[in-house]
Amino acid sequence: KNNGKNGYQLFSHEMHKSLMDRLQIEAELREAITHGDQLELHYQPQVCATNGHIVGYEALLRWRHPRRGLLTPFDFIHIAESSGLIIVIGEWALLEACKKAKSLCAANSHVKRIAVNLSALQFNHPNILTHVQHALTQTGLPPRMLELEITESAIIDNVDDAILLLFKLKKLGVNLAIDDFGTGYSSLNYLKNFPIDTLKIDKSFVDGIVNNQKDAAIARTIIQLALNLGLSTIAEGVEYIEQSELLTSMGCNDLQGYLFAKPIPSTQL
Ligand code: C2E
Ligand code: CA
Ligand code: CA
Ligand code: CA
Repeated sequence: KNNGKNGYQLFSHEMHKSLMDRLQIEAELREAITHGDQLELHYQPQVCATNGHIVGYEALLRWRHPRRGLLTPFDFIHIAESSGLIIVIGEWALLEACKKAKSLCAANSHVKRIAVNLSALQFNHPNILTHVQHALTQTGLPPRMLELEITESAIIDNVDDAILLLFKLKKLGVNLAIDDFGTGYSSLNYLKNFPIDTLKIDKSFVDGIVNNQKDAAIARTIIQLALNLGLSTIAEGVEYIEQSELLTSMGCNDLQGYLFAKPIPSTQL
């Protein structure tokens, strides 16, 4: 109908199948949320570039599906977002990560933080501040041990509201990191005005850092910018020792990636 009169298009089996899949997965995700133990957080270590100590963990969502196996966000996060289910999932993840953070910090004195991802939808949800506050009071986790990873696109949706919210979050005492830095609509102006603590250098730059001069130049510039602004840096997706050495020589503070460890189930930490 959108293509005007007198036309027709095949409603293909694939399209039908994927719609059915989506509806099916959404229904199953609802089940998983209400009944239990299928959603998990896995934790990927973040290490200090200079001494190799584990200084933090990023909490990453997994769905242990009874029939489909262990699913990563790639398989279901778009459905969680489009259905709005990400709000309750995110609320659960915050609480769960804060609980785990207490025992991780107690077990290893070098561990300073647990990082939790906030999607744009969560960040722009009216109750986000309450959710964060609740997770902290419920668990008694010192706020400085919680780091929230927010993407540039989540902030840029509505800059005026975002800046207010960032200051309110900061007032709670949590750390704020810009995730996938350099891939969104970066504006140097918001680095000046927003109360941000950390820039997370995107994997796409880390991937090319050894062989591509432009990627290396971008990574070096982000690190210098952070240094000059008094922010800390962490690089994600570090897979090779050469990347690790180069990032360390550039002054990157912390490193995260398969070179050190993959995300680990909570029970195996
Ligand atoms: P992200 O925040 O950019 O997370 C980094 C992703 O890279 C993770 O994928 C991680 O497992 C993967 N990774 C880490 N090191 C390496 C490496 O050395 N090589 C490669 N190839 N990959 C590496 P994952 O866990 O599948 O998560 C994908 C995305 O899903 C995340 O990207 C994040 O945007 C989103 N996500 C994950 N957990 C949550 C959550 O609890 N809430 C929300 N809202 N989003 C989440
Ligand atoms: Ca992240
Ligand atoms: Ca990231
Ligand atoms: Ca990334």
